[in-house]
Amino acid sequence: MNAREGEALTCRELIDLLADYLDSTLSQAAVVELEDHLAKCAECQAYLNTYRSTKALAAQAGSVEMPAEMRRRLSEFLVRHLSPGGA
Ligand SMILES: [Zn+2]
Repeated sequence: MNAREGEALTCRELIDLLADYLDSTLSQAAVVELEDHLAKCAECQAYLNTYRSTKALAAQAGSVEMPAEMRRRLSEFLVRHLSPGGA
């Protein structure tokens, strides 16, 4: 639980918001914060790309939503990968 000053959005928070972002259900303020983070964070850009293509594949397979289990596993993997010194 380290709240970093001056950092509007953490990677973990961004991941939580991504689904809403892609569904365009975020508030404008949240979108601005999210895109600001994305512009500076290669890891989150990579995550977004993975998320998008996975979602596209799922759509092609006939299901609209990415399976929750897959989403959770992706998030857990990325959060672990991003943790600076481990928990
Ligand atoms: Zn990030």
